[in-house]
Amino acid sequence: MVKKSIFFSLILAALFSACSTTQPLQVEKKARNVIFLIGDGMGLAQVSTSFYYQDEKAPSFTRFRHIGLVNTSSAKERVTDSASSATAYACGERTYNGAIGVDSDTNSVQNIVEILSPQGYATGVVATSSVVHATPASFYAHIDSRNKYEGIASQLVHSDIDFFAGGGNKFFSKRSDDLNYLDSLQAFGFNVDTTSLDAFKRLDAAQKYGFLLAADGMPEMTKGRGDFLLRATEKAIDYLKQDEDGFFLMSEGSQIDWAGHANNLSYLIREVLDFDTVIDAVLDFAEKDGNTLVIVTADHETGGFSLSAADIRRQANYTIIQPGFNTPHHSATLVPIFAYGPGAELFQGVYENKEVFNKILQAMGK
Ligand code: MG
Ligand code: MG
Ligand code: ZN
Repeated sequence: MVKKSIFFSLILAALFSACSTTQPLQVEKKARNVIFLIGDGMGLAQVSTSFYYQDEKAPSFTRFRHIGLVNTSSAKERVTDSASSATAYACGERTYNGAIGVDSDTNSVQNIVEILSPQGYATGVVATSSVVHATPASFYAHIDSRNKYEGIASQLVHSDIDFFAGGGNKFFSKRSDDLNYLDSLQAFGFNVDTTSLDAFKRLDAAQKYGFLLAADGMPEMTKGRGDFLLRATEKAIDYLKQDEDGFFLMSEGSQIDWAGHANNLSYLIREVLDFDTVIDAVLDFAEKDGNTLVIVTADHETGGFSLSAADIRRQANYTIIQPGFNTPHHSATLVPIFAYGPGAELFQGVYENKEVFNKILQAMGK
């Protein structure tokens, strides 16, 4: 009997330890690098266009095994804007629409770049908007309004960012205060170019780099942007990976959102496909590297976009897709999140946008 009760207590102990796994998942291997890909305005219907409007390759999204859903609401509004949602991702704090790196009382909140950079990590932001636009700005700036582009530009000069690429030259060089912030960038250690991603022979790990390749946003895909986002993201990775401590890179398909606002289907399809190409390249790098966590998500959905069955004289035709937009604004629909690499399992489930910040740091062992 004595032996039997010891046996049962061992079983009970085993059961209790099994129950304790309902606590937060423990990460087996830490992510050294994080590449955070944000498709602005990229809801599930936008993602789905990569399945129906191309036949060159399998969509990159099929390569992920760890998938979740994100509620993107802001602290004050059910439907978020890009500033508030990017601040939730970058700082782990829900705030009001329009806020960049500040809380509901406009107090600055430390962002992930400011947490990682002092620990030795190399950091970068890439966007197809201007680099001072809401999404990239939330990873280095703290300001009460996303519309204060010149103020955001001056904060980039003093930020912890090591590499940036996108548009926005005019917010540095043609300012209302007549100051030349291209000079300031150089004074604060940036090698800056306004003409080409290939301006420098090689990117030295001991230097900082900035590329401002349009006055404001980069051109649309349908108007000749070419492979800018792919090449800028690959250039950023090639540069950042030289840091033995690891790196954090945010790269944004900014104009999926603009296509949604414009209710422009061909614009939307081309922007999603461009982003899809970047995801594939980043996954190729992460597969080889083995220490890189890749996260792909959106800040919100734009356009109330849908892929319905065609309606022909009030009859459904299920062989034909009839894409449609429901609004020129954002929507509150949950957005998908895809993760690959060390810590990817943390991103399964349904949660708030601000949790993405915590999950990234947990995956890095912070
Ligand atoms: Mg370092
Ligand atoms: Mg954006
Ligand atoms: Zn938008």
